[in-house]
Amino acid sequence: MELDYTVKRSAKRKKLTISVERDRTVVVHAPISASDEAIDKAVQSKRQWIYAKTHHEQKLHELPHPPGKEFVNGESALYLGKHYRIQIVDDETAKVHFGNGFTVPRRQASLRREALREWYLEQAREVILPRIDEQARNLGVQVRLVKIVDNRFRWGSCTPKDAVHINWRLIKAPMSVIDYVIVHELAHLLEENHTPRFWNIVRTHTAAMLKAKTWLKENGQLLEEEV
Ligand SMILES: [Zn+2]
Repeated sequence: MELDYTVKRSAKRKKLTISVERDRTVVVHAPISASDEAIDKAVQSKRQWIYAKTHHEQKLHELPHPPGKEFVNGESALYLGKHYRIQIVDDETAKVHFGNGFTVPRRQASLRREALREWYLEQAREVILPRIDEQARNLGVQVRLVKIVDNRFRWGSCTPKDAVHINWRLIKAPMSVIDYVIVHELAHLLEENHTPRFWNIVRTHTAAMLKAKTWLKENGQLLEEEV
């Protein structure tokens, strides 16, 4: 995934430094000689830090999560971009169930994170994996290995060996956003860097690229939250 940043080159700079400004823009101060690739590499290697710096206060903070060990009836959790209520039910089953909302068996209530996470992982595999196949066909790329992964600071990644990894937390985002991330990673199989050609490919295959990017920027933190 890309990070937006501004590069300021200066003859006085000997070293490359990255800073996050008050308005949360990311600025890279670089020596004149630094290549775009070296700068991008440096930014990518610091993305965890940048992420923490730029997301410490989230834009959408609508979920009331009282700190407690037990689920509270009426709390909500995200699925495909929408909030759904969580209800604790007296039920013999051991699993989270999803209908018009989430129902969690009472005996799972204290293990809510694990139970919900397991459910999300299952959905991620069911919903996202076939989408990757479909989008790979659309783009005409061959993917060697596709995986749903637990990666806290990236929504997706692709390795030089044509493996695509998608963060399971993305299942909480709208389908259009999931599609954008998938197409973004698959497009890297055609074009390694974020060149104009790269963005052309992504734009061609993502109906609402800008909207999806904005959504992730504004709500990414929500996907990280565990109920
Ligand atoms: Zn990228």
